[in-house]
Amino acid sequence: MCGIVGYLGNKEAYPILIKGLHRLEYRGYDSAGVALINKNNDLNVYKTRGKVADLEAFAESKDTSGSIGIAHTRWATHGEPNNVNAHPHYSQSETLALIHNGIIENYSVLKKELLSKNYTFSSRTDTEVLIQLIEYIKESNHVDLVTAVQLALGQVVGAYAIAVVEKGNPDLIIAARKSSPLVVGIGDGEYFLASDASPIIEYTDKVIYLDDEEIAIIRRHEEPKITSIENVEKTPQIQQLSMNLSQLEKGGYPHFMLKEIFEQPRTIRDCMSGRVNVEGTHVVLSGILDNKEKFLKAGRIIICACGTSWHAGLIGMYMLEEYCRIPVVIEYSSEFRYRNPVIYPDDIVIAISQSGETADTLAAVELAKSRGAFIYGICNVVGSSISRATHGGSYTHAGPEIGVASTKAFTAQVSVLTLMTLAIGKVKGVISEENYLRITKELQSVPAKMEKTLLLNDQIKEFSKIFTYAKNFIYLGRGYNYPLALEGALKLKEISYIHAEGYPAAEMKHGPIALIDTEMPVVVIATKKGMYEKVVSNIQEIKARKGKVIAIVTEGDEIVKEISDYCIEVPLTEECLVPLVAAIPLQLLAYYIAVTKGRDVDQPRNLAKSVTVE
Ligand code: GLU
Repeated sequence: MCGIVGYLGNKEAYPILIKGLHRLEYRGYDSAGVALINKNNDLNVYKTRGKVADLEAFAESKDTSGSIGIAHTRWATHGEPNNVNAHPHYSQSETLALIHNGIIENYSVLKKELLSKNYTFSSRTDTEVLIQLIEYIKESNHVDLVTAVQLALGQVVGAYAIAVVEKGNPDLIIAARKSSPLVVGIGDGEYFLASDASPIIEYTDKVIYLDDEEIAIIRRHEEPKITSIENVEKTPQIQQLSMNLSQLEKGGYPHFMLKEIFEQPRTIRDCMSGRVNVEGTHVVLSGILDNKEKFLKAGRIIICACGTSWHAGLIGMYMLEEYCRIPVVIEYSSEFRYRNPVIYPDDIVIAISQSGETADTLAAVELAKSRGAFIYGICNVVGSSISRATHGGSYTHAGPEIGVASTKAFTAQVSVLTLMTLAIGKVKGVISEENYLRITKELQSVPAKMEKTLLLNDQIKEFSKIFTYAKNFIYLGRGYNYPLALEGALKLKEISYIHAEGYPAAEMKHGPIALIDTEMPVVVIATKKGMYEKVVSNIQEIKARKGKVIAIVTEGDEIVKEISDYCIEVPLTEECLVPLVAAIPLQLLAYYIAVTKGRDVDQPRNLAKSVTVE
C-alpha cells in the first residue's frame, strides 16, 4: 500500500526514483508522482493518476534533472484517485513538497485552523493539510524546516511515513514515520529512502529502519541524523540486508504470482532449515525455547491476523488445540483492536502478517502489549514493524513476496505454525511421541509432495478455462481443509474478481445449498483421512442438485473421482499438513482463471500488498 522512494546523492535522481517506484508497484496504488530539485534550485512536481508508466509518459518532455528527489505511489484514502489528489503535494508558497503514506486522522480540525489563517487547498487529501501545517509553523515561528516538521508532527494524530524537500535546498530530505514503514539506505556518498528495502537493494545493503515517531535528517555529505519528534538525538542502528536482487525479479515467469507458487517447495525447505535436526526427529524453534516459561504457563492463545494470514491462523488454531491442548481463539485484528477485549497476563497473542506492517495487526499487538500479554510475531519481512514490536517470534523465511495475492507466504505461515505446534507440544509434554515424530517427519516430505503437485500445472491451466463463465464459486472443506476452502475462495476473488465463498462443507445445507444449480462450480477439498466419508456425502448433496464439482482428492481416490465432474489428485499427507499441499491446485486454479479473463494478476484492482492503513 503506497510507496515512498527518495534519493539524495551524486547521480540523476529521476531514473532511480522511477525504478524504485516500479519495485514498489506490487504494494498496490492508483496514482504516482515525483518531486525533484534541479541545478537552478527549482522544485518541480509531476504527478498523475494511473500507473508509474503513465507518470513516465507525463514527465517525458519535462525537466526531470536533479540529484535529489522524492517519489510516491498513492493508494487513495482521502479523496478519489486523480491528478490533483496524487502526491507530492506542494505547500501554499510552492516552496515545500511532501509525500505521505498513512492517514492524518485529525486533518479536518487542522484544516479548519489553516483555512482561518488564509491557507487554501487544492486537493481533498489529508496529506495536503500536513504540508500546509509545516509551512505555517515554519513561517509563523521563524524556525528551520527540521524544527517545523518536528512541531507539525507533534500536532498530528494518525499514521504516517513522510518525506519533505524544500525549494532552494538541494542538500536536504527530511523523513519521518509513525505506524507506516520507512527505511533509509546508506550508499557511498548517496542516500535512499523507501517504504521497504526493495528499491534500495541494488545500490546498498546498509539500511536504517526508522522507529515510530523518529525523524531522519538526510543531508548531502553528512551521516544521516535521527531524532525523535521532540528533537532528542538517537544513535542510528545500521543493519545489513539479507535479500538479493534476483528475488525481486520474475525469473522467466509471466507473473510474480506464478513464480511464487512454484517457489513453495523451496520456501518450505528454507522455513524448516535449521529448525529441524538433520535426523529429522526434532524441532528447534528458538522463539519458543527462549520463551519456554511463557508457553508453559499460557492460559490461552489469541491469534490476531487479517486476510490470508487469518486463514493460516485458523489452521494454526486447529493444530495448537489438537496437539498442545491450549485454548486458542482467533480474531480479525481490525475487530480485536477496537472492541475492548478481555486480555489476561497469561495470554499469548500470536500476530501473523506477511509484511509485518499490517496497520490493524500492529495496533492489535500494541493493545495486547499494553494489557500485559506476551506477543509472538510470525512475519515474513525481516525488521518489519510487527517483528520489532513483539516479544518473540519466528520469521517465515519465504523471501520477498511481490504478487499481491499471497501464496508462498501463506504456506510458510502454516509451516511455522506447524513447527510452533510441535515445539510447544514438546515443551509442555502434551504431544505424544508418536504424533511428534510422525508430523515432524511428514513435514519434511511436504516440499517433495509440493513439487509433485506442481506437475499438475498444465492440467489445471487447461480445465480452468472452462470456468471463466462463472459469476460465483463455492469452496468447501472440513477440519483443516475448511480454512483452506476460505483461502481458495479468497484467491479467486482477489485476482479474478469472481465472487467466491468458502464454507465448512457441512454448513452448506444450512443455507448456501440454495445457490447450487447447473451453473455453480463447487470446489471441494475431499482428501483422505479426517472427515473423508462425511465430505463424500456433502459432494453427493451437491451432485443431487446438479452442481459442478471440482474435487481435490488424495492420489488414487476412486470414489470421489466417480461422482465429481473434475478431479485433481494430490499426494497423501498428514491431515494437518494437507493445506500445504492442496493450496497449490487452488492457487493455480485462481491464477489461470484470472489470466484467461485478462486480469492484472500481480496488481489486482483496489488491492494493496501491505495494508498500512487501517
Ligand atoms: N491519506 C493519503 C491520501 O489519501 C495517503 C494515502 C497513501 O498512503 O497512499 O492521499
